[in-house]
Amino acid sequence: MFFKSSKINEFRLWGLLLTMFGMGLMILGTAGIVFWGQSGKIIAGIGLAIGLIFMLGSLAIYFIAGMLSTSAVQLECPECHKLTKMLGKTDRCMFCKTILTLDPAKANITAEQLEEQKAATQAAK
Ligand SMILES: [Zn+2]
Repeated sequence: MFFKSSKINEFRLWGLLLTMFGMGLMILGTAGIVFWGQSGKIIAGIGLAIGLIFMLGSLAIYFIAGMLSTSAVQLECPECHKLTKMLGKTDRCMFCKTILTLDPAKANITAEQLEEQKAATQAAK
């Protein structure tokens, strides 16, 4: 993952970046006609075509993100106690970026220790 963010948020970010990039290319391509006249039309055509591909790519990313989020596990973040979604075995909280895992082997404390900690913090309150 490129950003320290949850997977769903990252998918959304990439979708947004691709849309912006595609729109930028399409605008630049159209601006080419204004600046270079007749010869700019080729640049405009290329810009529009590539821009359209990027827009379609972002659409695909949004679609995949939508499909993935339906299968995402919804859980309460142990750090900030907000309802978050996670993809796969490990992911980050959408709000506080805490790394969450469903895999006991990857967690550095056991479930029993976690229960003990919970009991300890509850007793402290
Ligand atoms: Zn959190």
